[in-house]
Amino acid sequence: MADAFDIVILGGGMGGYVAAIRAVQLGKTVALVEKDKLGGTCLHTGCIPTKALLHTAELYHDAKNGAASGVNVTGVELDWAAANQRKQKIVDQLHKGVQFLMKKNKIEVLNGTGVFESSTRVRVDGPDGARTIEGGNVIVATGSHPKSLPGVEIDGERVINSDHALALKEVPRSAVIVGGGAIGVEFASMWNDLGAEVTLVEALPRITPLEDAEVSQVVSRAFTRRGIKVVAGARLDLKSVKASGDGVRLHYDSDDGGADLNADVLLMAVGRGANVDGLGLEKTGVKVEKGWVMVDDDLRTDDPAVFAIGDVVGGYLLAHVASHEGIHAVEVISGESHAPLNYNQMPRCTYSRPQVASVGLTEEQAREAGVEVKTGKFPFSALGRAMIMGDTDGFVKVVTDAGTGEVVGAHMVGHNVTDLIAEPALGQLLEGTAWEIGLSVHAHPTLSEAVGEAALAAEGRAIHI
Ligand code: FAD
Repeated sequence: MADAFDIVILGGGMGGYVAAIRAVQLGKTVALVEKDKLGGTCLHTGCIPTKALLHTAELYHDAKNGAASGVNVTGVELDWAAANQRKQKIVDQLHKGVQFLMKKNKIEVLNGTGVFESSTRVRVDGPDGARTIEGGNVIVATGSHPKSLPGVEIDGERVINSDHALALKEVPRSAVIVGGGAIGVEFASMWNDLGAEVTLVEALPRITPLEDAEVSQVVSRAFTRRGIKVVAGARLDLKSVKASGDGVRLHYDSDDGGADLNADVLLMAVGRGANVDGLGLEKTGVKVEKGWVMVDDDLRTDDPAVFAIGDVVGGYLLAHVASHEGIHAVEVISGESHAPLNYNQMPRCTYSRPQVASVGLTEEQAREAGVEVKTGKFPFSALGRAMIMGDTDGFVKVVTDAGTGEVVGAHMVGHNVTDLIAEPALGQLLEGTAWEIGLSVHAHPTLSEAVGEAALAAEGRAIHI
């Protein structure tokens, strides 16, 4: 007899471990199968280590540029080994925290690779041999892996992905980054702050291509001013990539003829693919299309016993999306789901300098969805707090439904905006209007005033512009 659980979860990343905790809260017995480390990509090779190193990069930049605020620092030096030790300490501490949460919630964590033997039966191949377990339901939360482009081989030294970029022993002197999405933009920002010569190559007409067009423009201008070479509308010539002992050479094509580039490293930040290989999905009714596990609005796969959450189902590949999906899936399984998942309420953040944050629809998307749109915009250049921080780049834009006044989207670029997006996200959840966000009192002097003023601007009532 296989050991039986109410729910078996494959993958202990942000999606899987959060789902496990919520399932226990709902009275379920849970087995969480993890083949590597609890916390997954986000904790070990994603959100946390990148943000720890971005913090070091910004501190290094600030230390060298304190004179304008009356702080003259001489002899500023980067200690990359210390920065990496600090990064690892944070990761280790959070890893211990997740392990503790599993114990506290009495979740059975099985160390090994889970493979379906049937829709409800999973074999776990671990260091001590194989064990078979049975779940009333199984949740696939196996995450994703970095991809490259056809013919561009990742060698881990000269041609690297984000996993390798986080493990570099030294900051590269020069780097070409292919892919102007969140990961590419964050590494461009980090390495430039740390002194590298960076070229960012994006195939679409603008970097951060999924964001509001004006937001992309601000990031692109700020990057260019900082000395990052931004090449949008450019396609990497896949056959041109040649790695050697001392660097990598490549060519990109663009409407103005393209160019040859040389650099220490080429970072391929061109997207991720779902971890579905070797899972034994053929033993289940689960369907995979274009590489992603197919699910309905409640994260049910085509197999009634199997759910899937997080990166493996595609869409927004974000940690908080994975965990919200995990919570939703176990609530559906338990008959405790009270609200549908709404991807319009999922914030998207990029932690570059300047930062980017958005929630809901862009102006363009709202119009395409048939919404009559009103927008309000407030620039950080008009805000006291932004001047005090010495960083007045960017703005907050609020998109509303002209008929109801409801906020349908918010788009921000500038200093610490990733901490400001929570307000319009909550506003959207509560079906709040721009008028209500403007009515809410924002402390002075804070960056959050830009949110209140942008909301007021949508109503034609902004005070400071
Ligand atoms: P994962 O975190 O990938 O977890 C899946 C787990 O499943 C892994 O631990 C894996 O070992 C395990 N597994 C796989 N197959 C099996 C199997 N057969 N049996 C057992 N275990 C298995 N998101 C943000 O929201 N904010 C950020 O700032 C951010 N920064 C990022 C930076 C980088 C460089 C990268 C790469 C990603 C970043 N992300 C960020 C994305 C975020 O990391 C992912 O969206 C998130 O980790 C997805 O969680 P998940 O649970 O779906 O998958």
